[in-house]
Amino acid sequence: MTVQLAERVNRISISATLAVLTEAERYKARGIDVVDFGPGEPDFPTPEHIKRAAVRAIEQNLTKYTATAGILALREAVCAWHAAQFGSAYTPEECIVSVGGKHAIFNAVNALIEPGDEVLIPVPYWVSFPDIVKCAGGRPVFVPTGAAGGFRLRAAEVEKLLGPRSRVLIVNSPNNPSGAVVAPEEFARLYELCRRRGVWLLSDECYSHFIYGARPCSVASIPGSKPHLIIIGSLSKTFSMTGWRIGYSLAPPPLVEAMLKLQSQSTSNPASISQYAALEALRGPMDSVAAMLAEYARRRARILDGLRAIPGIVCNEPEGAFYVFPNVAARLSDGSAAEDTAALARQLLEREHVVVVPGEAFGAPGFLRLSYATSMDRIEEGLRRLERFFASAESAS
Ligand code: PLP
Repeated sequence: MTVQLAERVNRISISATLAVLTEAERYKARGIDVVDFGPGEPDFPTPEHIKRAAVRAIEQNLTKYTATAGILALREAVCAWHAAQFGSAYTPEECIVSVGGKHAIFNAVNALIEPGDEVLIPVPYWVSFPDIVKCAGGRPVFVPTGAAGGFRLRAAEVEKLLGPRSRVLIVNSPNNPSGAVVAPEEFARLYELCRRRGVWLLSDECYSHFIYGARPCSVASIPGSKPHLIIIGSLSKTFSMTGWRIGYSLAPPPLVEAMLKLQSQSTSNPASISQYAALEALRGPMDSVAAMLAEYARRRARILDGLRAIPGIVCNEPEGAFYVFPNVAARLSDGSAAEDTAALARQLLEREHVVVVPGEAFGAPGFLRLSYATSMDRIEEGLRRLERFFASAESAS
C-alpha cells in the first residue's frame, strides 16, 4: 500500500544504528551466538536504590499526570546536581525534564530552527543530530574534526563555516562515536565564538560522567555563559537508565517556555514513575557511576590492545564514552576486505556474527564503531572473531 506521507518524514531516515541492531536481532532470533558491539547503552542494571524509588512511587500512587516540565522536586534536583557536579547555577525556571535527552534535543531544535536555518554539527556525529535538524526544516552543516587530531573539535574550524543562516552549534563531549572530549579551554573559545556571532551552543552532555583521566566538565561552568547556551543532559547512560526515558534541558527561560509549549502538545510530562526514579538517582549516592566507569576503563584498555594488534587497523584512544572508533580504511583500500565500511559490517555479521556499526552512520566512512558496553568475555570472543575475519580476508586477497 502506498501512503502519501508528509515531506518532513521523507526528509529523515530511521536511525542507522537501529537498522544494524535490527539485523543482529534476526540472527539472535535464529539462535546464533552473536557478539554484539552495537549497543549504545550500558550493560549494567539500573542501580537498586533507583529501582526501589520507582516501586515506592507506584505503591504511593504517584502515577498521574505531572507538571509538563516535570515535578518541581526533580527540576530542583537537576539544578542542584548539575551545580554540584559542574559548578553551574541554574534555577527550576531554566530547566525542563523531557522523555530522554533525544526528546530534549528535538524540542530545542524545533523551538529554534526556521526552514533553511543552519545547524553546525561536528563530524563524526551522533546519528540523530542531522535527522532532527532536517525534520525541523534546518540544514546540517558538517564541521570537520579529523582523526589525526583525535577528532577534537576546534573553534577555528567552526568559525570558518559560520554564515548568516547559522543558528545553532551542536557539541557532544564526550563524543559518540569517537570518544573525543572538548577541553575546557576549547569550550570557552567555542562559547565565546557563539556569543559573538549570535549562535546558540547546544551542549549534549549525555556521556559527561564517562571520561577517562579527567574530571567531568560542562561549558555551563563558565561564568556568564547562560545567554547562548542550551545544556542537554540525560540519565540514560550515567545511571544506566536508558529505558526509563529521562533527560533534561537547561536554558534561558524564554527557550524553556517554548520547549514546554512543544512538549505540552506532544508527549506531555515524562512518565511520573521514571521521574521519581530520576529524583532518587540525582539525590542518591554516585558510587554505581564510579564502578561503571572503572569497568569501562578496563574494557577500553583490552579492546584497544586487541584492535591495535590487527594489521591495518589504527585506533585512537578514546577519552570518554564507551565506544572505540577504529580506522579500517587501510584494509578497504588494499582490497583485503570489503569496498566500504557498510559492506564490511555486513560481512562481519554474516561470516563471524559480530555486530559493529559502520562509520557511514556517523559521517565517517572508513571507521567502525564498537561499543564496549558488553562483558569482558564477549569482548575477548569478539576480538578473536575480528582477528580471524581480518586474517582470512588478508590471505584471500
Ligand atoms: N546524545 C547522544 C550523543 C547519544 O548517544 C544519545 C543516545 O544514544 C542521546 C543523546 C540520547 O539518549 P537518551 O534519549 O536515551 O537520553
